[in-house]
Order: sequence, then structure tokens, then C-alpha cells
Amino acid sequence: MANNGEAQRWPLLDSFITYYDFGPAWEPGQPSVYFQSQLHGNEAAGTAVLRELVNALRTLPAESICGAIRIVPRANPFAWQSYVQTRQGTYDLTTGENWNRIYDWSALREEAETQWKGMSEDDAWKLMRRLVAQRREASYDLLDQLRYSLFELASGYAYIIDVHTPDNGIEHLYCSRYSETVPHFGVPNVLEFGDPQGNTFDEGYLRLIQQAEGHLGHSQAITLEIKNRLALHNDQVEDWVERILNELRHRRILQDVEDVEMPRPAYVGSYVSCIGRVTGIVVYHRRPGEFVKAGDVVGELIPFDMEDAPQQVTAPVSGILLNMRDQTIVPSGGWVVRMLHPHSTQASTSVAG
Ligand SMILES: [Zn+2]
Repeated sequence: MANNGEAQRWPLLDSFITYYDFGPAWEPGQPSVYFQSQLHGNEAAGTAVLRELVNALRTLPAESICGAIRIVPRANPFAWQSYVQTRQGTYDLTTGENWNRIYDWSALREEAETQWKGMSEDDAWKLMRRLVAQRREASYDLLDQLRYSLFELASGYAYIIDVHTPDNGIEHLYCSRYSETVPHFGVPNVLEFGDPQGNTFDEGYLRLIQQAEGHLGHSQAITLEIKNRLALHNDQVEDWVERILNELRHRRILQDVEDVEMPRPAYVGSYVSCIGRVTGIVVYHRRPGEFVKAGDVVGELIPFDMEDAPQQVTAPVSGILLNMRDQTIVPSGGWVVRMLHPHSTQASTSVAG
């Protein structure tokens, strides 16, 4: 039975997560994609885009949707509440934990691996979901409720897309290792970043799949950073919806038109931070999207004692300036600029959009 994208509610303590399913029911080995946004309460541009994606998919003929699509425009209702009350949506204010550092599934994998030997992929996923549901039902902890609920919603999907928005930056995405099998939505800047702790949503999921050694099939999990934290214009919402639809067409999850070619990313590289050595007021000399050479001054920090000389911040490597602060004061040891250092320097001028 095909799903038609009606709103469904996943209860979560005294709140709920709204989600939408399209296309054929999920089956192991079949094309499928899971989108979520607003894990961080202050990063709601993706929510506006995914809501519009739901509307766009509802207008398509049912037979053109050939894979299971699940869309969760607001993954974290607690962070929404927190943002409304405090203008802070990145951390759980009770524990201080970043909402996107609580997805280490290694204990779950250890519990499952004695049991999943010889199981089909379908049964292995059923086992994982059962184990997670048991944990969720046994806990009254808010973080547990959130992490287990999101795992249950995402479990089994072949592509996991976690949509965020950067500080004052340009669009980019994080993946463990870039290849043709990584959906990139036409984003020009791709960071290969296997989060060392493995506790972000995408990396935690991917690591579980890798450690499952085939029992849970193959997946790609990425973090998509769209634009910046400024509110979107309607044109930008529509542009993002079209790019997402094109990626789904390219992956043959949607077959409403002929296959579309996706442009290859302009830059694939590693993630490098420029760190401040004093707490200071940052004044940038360059802009997001520019290409800089190693040693170029990207900005300066004006220290507390304004009679002291400003500290210059230089680029440690050549590359694209992806992300700058949208707050004026940077604490000592904090990042001032985040950069993409390309693996191959095929270009030396600014082309990043
Ligand atoms: Zn985020």
C-alpha cells in the first residue's frame, strides 16, 4: 500500500514529531530516503524547505514515487520550545548537551550483534527497532526519548539526510567519504568529515550500519547545510525543493521525468578550522565563499584591552571559506572561520556559491 503523505504524529513526552510518508512501504534493499530538519531549534530554514517538499510531493502522481520517502521537517520539538523561550536552540539547557551529539549507537550494536547472526536484513531491522523501543519505553529521560524516537523514525532508510544551517556561511555538506553514491543536491562544497566521536545523527547512523557488517544493508548518511541562518526568500525555498526533487530523480526514487544529471561538486576536501588565540571582537577581512591561500589574513580579533594590538587570524591552509561567525565576539580557542581544504586544487579562484 502506497503512502500519500498525510501528516502523522509520533508522540514524544508531552509533545510530538510530525512526519510524512510517501511512496511504497519501506522494504529492505529498495530505494528509500529519510529527511529531517531542525534538530537544532534555531536552524529552521530546512523546516520551511521540507514543508514545501511535502506540498510538492503531494501534487505528483502516486505512481511516479518509486521509493519510500519519509520527511520529518521538525525533528526536535524540545529545541523549538527552547528557542522560543531563550533564543538558544543548539544545546539542551538542562544537561548542556548539543542536540546533535547524542547518537552513539555502539551499545545498541553490541546488544544486537549476538542475536542478528544469520538474520535477513528485514529481521535485523525489526530486531533493532524492538531493542530501541524497549529502551525508549524504559526511560523517562528527555534525551533518550528524542534519540530513540529519531532512530525508530529513520531506521532502515538507504539515504539519511539531516538538514542544518550554518552560521554566516555558504551551503555545503558533510559525508564520511565522497563518492557517486553520496547524494549531494548540487551543493558545490563537500566536506569529508568522519566525526571522530561518531555521535552526530548522520555519523552515528552510518557507523552502526558499517559495524553491522551487512546485516543492516548499506546506507549513506549526510549532513546538508543549506545557506545560512538568515530567513529564506520564497525563491530560495522553491530552488531547494527543485534541487531535492532532482536528486531524487537522479536516484530513481522519483520517476516523474527522465533522469536528470546532477552537477558534480566543485570541491571535495577536508574540514579545517581557524582558531582564535584570544577572546575578541571579530572583524572579517574576507567573505564566505571566497578562496584564500595559506597564510592569508581572513580577519582580526580585537581583544578586551583595546589598547592591545588586534590579533590577526590567518588561514592555515588554502581553501574555501565556508563558515564565519554570526556573533561578534569569539571566545579564545573557538573557531573564527571554518574552511574546506580541497584534496586536489584544480581551481584557485572563488567559484563557490
Ligand atoms: Zn545544526
